[in-house]
Amino acid sequence: MCGIFAYTGNKGKDAGGILLDGLLSLEYRGYDSAGIFTPESGSIKTPGAVAELRKKVPKEFAGKSGIAHLRWATHGEPTEKNAHPHSSGDGEIWVVHNGIIENFKELKHGLEKKGHVFLSDSDTEILPHLVEEHLKHTKDFEKAALAALNELRGTYGIAMQYKGEPDKLIAARMGSPIVLGLGNGEHFIASDPSPILPHTKQVVFLEDGDVAVITPEGHGIKKLDSSNVSRATTEIDWNAEEAQKGGHEHFMLKEMMEMPEVVENTLRGRLIADKGLAKLGGLEEVAKQLEGIERIIIVACGTAYYAGLVGEYMLEEHAGIPVEVELGSEFRYRSPVLNQRTAVLAISQSGETIDTLEAVREGKRKGALTLGIVNTVGSTIARETDAGVYNHAGPEIGVASTKAFVSQLVVLALLAIFLGRQRGMSEKQGKEIAKELKALPKKIQSILDKHTSVEALAKKYVGSRDFLFIGRKYNMPIAYEGALKLKELSYIHAEGCGAGEMKHGPIAMIDEVFPTFAIASADAVYEKMLSNIHEIRARKGPVVALATEGADTRVEELVQDVIYVPKTIEMLAPILNAVPLHLFAYYFSREKGYNPDRPRNLAKSVTVE
Ligand code: GLU
Repeated sequence: MCGIFAYTGNKGKDAGGILLDGLLSLEYRGYDSAGIFTPESGSIKTPGAVAELRKKVPKEFAGKSGIAHLRWATHGEPTEKNAHPHSSGDGEIWVVHNGIIENFKELKHGLEKKGHVFLSDSDTEILPHLVEEHLKHTKDFEKAALAALNELRGTYGIAMQYKGEPDKLIAARMGSPIVLGLGNGEHFIASDPSPILPHTKQVVFLEDGDVAVITPEGHGIKKLDSSNVSRATTEIDWNAEEAQKGGHEHFMLKEMMEMPEVVENTLRGRLIADKGLAKLGGLEEVAKQLEGIERIIIVACGTAYYAGLVGEYMLEEHAGIPVEVELGSEFRYRSPVLNQRTAVLAISQSGETIDTLEAVREGKRKGALTLGIVNTVGSTIARETDAGVYNHAGPEIGVASTKAFVSQLVVLALLAIFLGRQRGMSEKQGKEIAKELKALPKKIQSILDKHTSVEALAKKYVGSRDFLFIGRKYNMPIAYEGALKLKELSYIHAEGCGAGEMKHGPIAMIDEVFPTFAIASADAVYEKMLSNIHEIRARKGPVVALATEGADTRVEELVQDVIYVPKTIEMLAPILNAVPLHLFAYYFSREKGYNPDRPRNLAKSVTVE
């Protein structure tokens, strides 16, 4: 979990400054402590933010190379002593690590017997001690590092440094992402490309079991068994500015404002509108195989899971394929019945969500075709699935997913056309969906343009401690999503439920201080939604309705507030309805005085169980 950044160069002595700046661009991953080390100046660590760390780092903190870390504690509290980097007993070897070393207790025990003394509760600390032990015998840093890594069980992304060879850094990957940055006279190790981008666009993604050595001049990669291996260099086309806030108060708002552009990017080159077809290059290789697929299991977590639920409705209705949606975290512990005629489709913004990744691996083991809808190019899920579709949503920094969620829904709609046309969807229907998809960016823009009215609503309801969100059919998952966003950003009770389910429990909570968001688009279930709104009003519950612009005159008389959303076809309405709910959650959190970009206790990508 979280972030690693390491640097070695022959360009001066500001490794400290480079590393601190790099940590800032990794902050979005969510973390609880930060730390930095250079062989020349030693280590500085702190619980809390990179800004705190920066305050503690003295001006004269020089270094030509170094390692830095953002920690999201798994073993030991988020304190200074548990923050990384950790060192060997003799202070020669320094390590930063993301992940969990599962056998650290046995290893620690063995090392203690040999006289090693540990200063922290972190599982990571055993690693520099282990390398120190091997170095005594091998007298070679690389060999010692390889020997130590071979003793570990668990997940890791690692950067390590030896004071005896200060310009050489070793990186290793097992389950936690690691990317190398290849500069001119300088090289980098990081958890993702964002801190590398200001320096170079040339990167190499490591695979599980890879151990890399970087120096200012170059890099080399070995497998854990010491055999040499080479990995392709990728050119990343995200510029560093894309990862800045672009004038908005928060990343989350900036990312919502990017939604129209994101939808355009997601659709770019993928619609043959005049033939009602979707062209998904990433699926071409498996297109034939997809024709024979009898069942799709979508696996995802959190917001992506709700996107998956909408996808289920889209794919069943328009492609006629049976679809199930599973939480990654459950799927991996069941005994799912899969075969070659099943496709396991993973949805993950980061492409590193551990539970979703493990679900993909379970699918693979059982012979299913594995597919991914992933935003992060080169991420683990993207690489491990047989085929897939990238979101092209750009880097998402806000912990609460907004633009990536919308782009996931757009990809699912494209997939519905792609698979639908393979299975009897008419050209006319394909054209209709394509036309509506193309119209989405303008419609999303018109919702965003009215953001101040959503802000006013957030002000009005900011005193409420509970919210219910209801929706039916395509909009039921959007009710879940609206509630999740409010929970995660404002730490209040919010519940999403299928409107039909309301009478089976949640309605008992309703009274005059318990507001409900009711998604009442003008669609096949509109009348039923109106009845549900009546039921809430009969119990004096205040209601905010999401209604279809120009198609609804009835809901306004019933409810306290209405947010009008442009008309589209039923299957795409969730994309438009998500926008005001995301805006509401953002403004609500801000009104409460929280930082919507940094919800407490949450990390952007969940890479430990
Ligand atoms: N397991 C390590 C720790 O608790 C690393 C956690 C992380 O990934 O940041 O220190």
